Amino acid sequence: MKNTVAILGAGIVGVSCALELQGRGFDVTLLDRTSPGREASYGNAGVLARSSLVPFNNPGLWASLPKLLKNTSASFRHDPAFIARNLPWALGFLSRARASAFEETATALDALIRLSGEAHRRLLVEAGVAHRLRETGWVFLYRSEEAFAGTRLSRETYERFGVATQALDAHELAELEPSLKPIFPRALWIKDAASVDSPGRVVEAYAQLFIARGGRIRQALVDKIERSQADAWRIVEEGGTVHEASRVVLALGPWTREFAKKALGLHVPMAFERGYHMHYGAAGGASLRRPIYDTGGGYVLSPMEQGLRLSTGVQLTARDAPRNLVQLELAERAAREAFPLDQRLEAEPWLGSRPTLPDSRPIIGECTGHAGLWLAFGHQHIGFSTGPGTAALLGAMMAGEPCAFDPAPFRASRFQL
Ligand SMILES: Cc1cc2nc3c(=O)[nH]c(=O)nc-3n(C[C@H](O)[C@H](O)[C@H](O)COP(=O)(O)OP(=O)(O)OC[C@H]3O[C@@H](n4cnc5c(N)ncnc54)[C@H](O)[C@@H]3O)c2cc1C
Repeated sequence: MKNTVAILGAGIVGVSCALELQGRGFDVTLLDRTSPGREASYGNAGVLARSSLVPFNNPGLWASLPKLLKNTSASFRHDPAFIARNLPWALGFLSRARASAFEETATALDALIRLSGEAHRRLLVEAGVAHRLRETGWVFLYRSEEAFAGTRLSRETYERFGVATQALDAHELAELEPSLKPIFPRALWIKDAASVDSPGRVVEAYAQLFIARGGRIRQALVDKIERSQADAWRIVEEGGTVHEASRVVLALGPWTREFAKKALGLHVPMAFERGYHMHYGAAGGASLRRPIYDTGGGYVLSPMEQGLRLSTGVQLTARDAPRNLVQLELAERAAREAFPLDQRLEAEPWLGSRPTLPDSRPIIGECTGHAGLWLAFGHQHIGFSTGPGTAALLGAMMAGEPCAFDPAPFRASRFQL
């Protein structure tokens, strides 16, 4: 019992934790109601970018807030009733859009992203899927000079943190991505970035590696967890099967809030930044060499194994609220202005949630007042990139070893759960 760990959730975060803890000699069981990497870790844009250290709630948010609140853009929609029900989250999120909080978060995320980049590159090789990685960066596109000028804070932040970028004019952009239509006078090429052509397949390959190294995965919905004795936890599956483990890791992504409330009475301050995706063909042999982010159009277009994946911006609402396809339609219209997209390749768009805490940092570490309960969730827009670094931090803490950097900004104790 002493070294047994049950990890709840087999998205990129749970699977990465499983591999890390297994490598440290723990006896690990991974539980998920579905197969690994089928939820947010499947549907994301597949970008691993050092530039993701700038969270949505940065000081530049105030200038764009009046426009965003009109609820008409493709990049951000919100449900006022959801915000009213989650007012402490919304106020907490906005209160972090000030210089000092931004600095703390950017510094913390930078360390996590850098650690994760190394760990991902190692895992991609070990899992036999290094061919899925493209070291070609990603490109932010601007539809006007003013839009580019408005990103000064981000560009200064990239420079301060040593993120390699290159500003491009229309001509240079046409050389970099010849299939784009000439509607962008400016662009910023984030060179310190990579992407994969199928995040879901990457997570599956990591899960297979965990199994090949002797790990166990159970496909089961976990109904509850409870302490069984002073130093053990009971994990109860739907249907009644019970396991015991000395430690539990909660890595349920956007389901963590509901599960932690029901099973443990914890109040996780999480909101859901939902996003849709759809795959498209490309007309006339057009192609992209790297993901693009059309900042005015409010979408990301990533070349994937299945086709070109168009992913939308944020829909801030309840995790299970009915679908609203307006954002995807607007994004598709904008993307057709920028690139010769062909037909949709699926009947139904994919929908998933980015799990976001008020300070845009995940919680990584042991839960205050619940010995043996470990937390790894809240990775907002960057969980696919930062799963492996999260695992490295959590593993070091669980083993009582020094971390690669100070984990304090990620501690659970910064919130009253
Ligand atoms: C449109 C979009 C684009 C994105 N683009 C990027 C990007 O380019 N780069 C990037 O780094 N990040 C991106 N993200 C964010 C990233 O996808 C998430 O942060 C990340 O996938 C979260 O991983 P996770 O393991 O925490 O959660 P998930 O992948 O959601 O995994 C949680 C798991 O818990 C399981 N589960 C839930 N409840 C139970 C239960 N009771 N019992 C058993 N199992 C349960 C689920 O089945 C699921 O497998 C994007 C997100 C979206 C929505």
